[in-house]
This record gives sequence, C-alpha cells and structure tokens, in this order.
Amino acid sequence: VAVSHKPQLDASKLTYEFNKNPKVVAAVDDPVRRLQNSTTDHMITAKWTEANGWEHPKLTPYGPFQLEPTASCLHYATEAFEGMKAYRGVDGKLRLFRPDLNAKRMNLSSVRIALPSIPPEEMETLIKEFIAIDGPKWLPDPNTFIYLRPAVIGSGAALGVQRPREATVFIIAALFPPLDKPTGMRLLASTEDMGVRAWHGGHGASKVGANYGPTLQAQGAAGARGFDQVLWLLGPEGRVTEAGASNFFVVWKNKTTGATQLVTAPLGDRIILDGVTRRSVLELARKHLAIGSTEPRAGGEDLEKVEVVEENFTITDMIEAYDEGRLLEAFACGTAFFIAPVNGVQYKDKEIEVPMPMVMPDGSRAGRYGGTIKVWLKEIMYGVVDHPWGVVI
Ligand code: PMP
Repeated sequence: VAVSHKPQLDASKLTYEFNKNPKVVAAVDDPVRRLQNSTTDHMITAKWTEANGWEHPKLTPYGPFQLEPTASCLHYATEAFEGMKAYRGVDGKLRLFRPDLNAKRMNLSSVRIALPSIPPEEMETLIKEFIAIDGPKWLPDPNTFIYLRPAVIGSGAALGVQRPREATVFIIAALFPPLDKPTGMRLLASTEDMGVRAWHGGHGASKVGANYGPTLQAQGAAGARGFDQVLWLLGPEGRVTEAGASNFFVVWKNKTTGATQLVTAPLGDRIILDGVTRRSVLELARKHLAIGSTEPRAGGEDLEKVEVVEENFTITDMIEAYDEGRLLEAFACGTAFFIAPVNGVQYKDKEIEVPMPMVMPDGSRAGRYGGTIKVWLKEIMYGVVDHPWGVVI
C-alpha cells in the first residue's frame, strides 16, 4: 500500500476570518425559518487536490462559492453531505448528538463517489469548532436546535467523465423550524411509476446527492396529494425500505409467533442509509425495552418487552398485520424529522391506519414505543440527562 506524504486534512491548522457584517438571528417563530435556507455568519471550507493534498481549512464569512461551470459536481453528482443538529440544552450548554457517526459516514459517502477520504476525527473537530464559533449566537434559547450541513463536492473543472482531482469540503448551518407533525405523518407507499430510491448494487447506503434529486418528483407529487412523505418500496415483492429521507420502523405482533416486535429494514445489502437516529433507536430499545434487557428506564416500565429485529418486510406484510389487528405503530426517524409518528400509509387503493395512543409531553400524539424513545433521545440531546451521545461543545 502506497503511503501518501501529501498534506492530510488537519483541523488544528484552521485559519479564522470573522464576519464583519454579522446577521440578525430570526426569532423561533419567524416564518423565515420555514425556508430552511437562512444560514449563520460563517462557514468552514477545506480544499483538496490530487496533486497537493489538503490545504489548511478556513473559517470565513458565509458566502457564495466561485465554481467553474465545468466543475465535476455540476455534471456528475460528485457530491456527498451530512445532516446533523446542534442543540442548546436546558442547562444552557451546546451539544452535538453522536457527531463521530456523522463524520464517519461522510467519509464513506465521499469515497463512494471517488472524492477523497476525509479523516473522520479531523472532520468532527472542524464541526465542533464551527459550532463553538457560531453556536453561542445562533442558539440563544434553551430547548432549540440549529441544522448543520457538512458537505463535499468535486469542485475542479472536469467535463470529461473522470475521477475528480479536486474537492472542497464545507460546513454551513441554517435555521430550521421544528418539523414535527403533531397529527402524525401520512405516507404514500411508492408504486412503479414513482421510481425506486435505492437498489441492489446502488448507493442507497451512502449519503450522496445523487440519491435525492431523482426522488423529488415523486415526493412533490405525493405532497400535492396531501401526503407527507413517500414510503419507498423495492422490488416486485414491495420491500419496505425508508420513508422519505428517514429510516422507518413498525411495531407489530409477529404473524407466526405472536411476539411483539420492533422492526426495521437491515443494513446488510447497502440499500438502507445507516441513520444515526435509527442506530440510536435500536440501541436504546435493545438496552431498555427488549426481551431480556435488564436496564429499565423511566417511562418504559409499562411497555411490554419486545423483540428488536432488523429484518426485511414487505408492504403486504404490513397490510396483513393491519387487517389482522396486529399493527401497533409505525414511525419514521432521522435528524430532520426526528422521531415522526406515522398515522396512515396508503398503498394503491389500500389505506392502512396506524394507531397513535400515546400523548406526548407537548400534547402531540405518538405510538408508545416511538414516543417513549423520542422522549429519551430528547433528554440526551437537550442535556436533561448526562449521556456520552450528547457531546458538549
Ligand atoms: N435515510 C435517508 C435516506 C436519509 O437521508 C436520512 C437523513 N440523513 C436518514 C435515513 C436518517 O439518518 P440520520 O438519522 O442519520 O439523520
């Protein structure tokens, strides 16, 4: 294996040029937040070239890029990104949630599209530094969050279809409203005419821009029909994969054994994105809610213990469970929508209604398992409890 002696990405070499025209932070209820494009004062960028390795990363005022119209990313989708949030806790501290996982996933995604390897520890340090600079001003109130978007693009001129020889990593942040839907989400299960999100041998497990653009037409059409997200199915058997840009869980009684199960699609064949929220739901469920788990947690005492399974299931399995009264709940989960209870799924002419029996602390409704795990995750993100996943900045 050849060892590269070109400069590596080095977060400790970050240079600083502060914004002399800082912006005003929009209030929590300001409609501008709905646009999801009002960014903070700064950005961090880091450039890589095949010839010279990594330049020192820079913190500069947020602003437009200059790119050649021939830039690789504008033609061949050499782009990968991350989505995460920074939280202002009830204790006034700023936190990230498991940023190490985002940094690792960003590296995997970058390499998948022939962009350079981005050392996860350096990336994580840059993300933390960015929030240390912009977080205090842009998160004035406890119990609020800001959305962070680290990304990498093939930024060099490359009209020929070829491996990128230049890349630019950047980190920006934007104001978002909470996207929770108190009445639960309605999903439209995809049919052939809507396309598929990911397939065998494809790149569904990478967070590359190429996975998202081609789904937007179907999402727009579903939205026009009153649905919140598309439930993406795969193959003639209608395998249930993900809901919009979120992972998807159901709780049901198993058809054969009658056991109560918390189920989500497995990662094995690289169709499903390895969501940080998905992983966290599985880990908390295995620790506190699974049959045989020995660590009860407040809020979960009254829940029947479940089997926690990562297994493929189909829309037909869901319909059968619903028809037989075995479908107990469903939820989508991801950074943007957090734990989003689902109250209905439509597949062709069939309408599946999903119960949401739990009343949440804010008055919204949820399924009992998803709702309980949501409360636990919130406690970690907002510092109600001390937990290694809540990384204080
Ligand atoms: N699936 C897809 C396709 C996504 O884009 C996302 C958002 N990153 C998720 C699932 C959820 O992942 P996470 O919990 O890491 O946000």
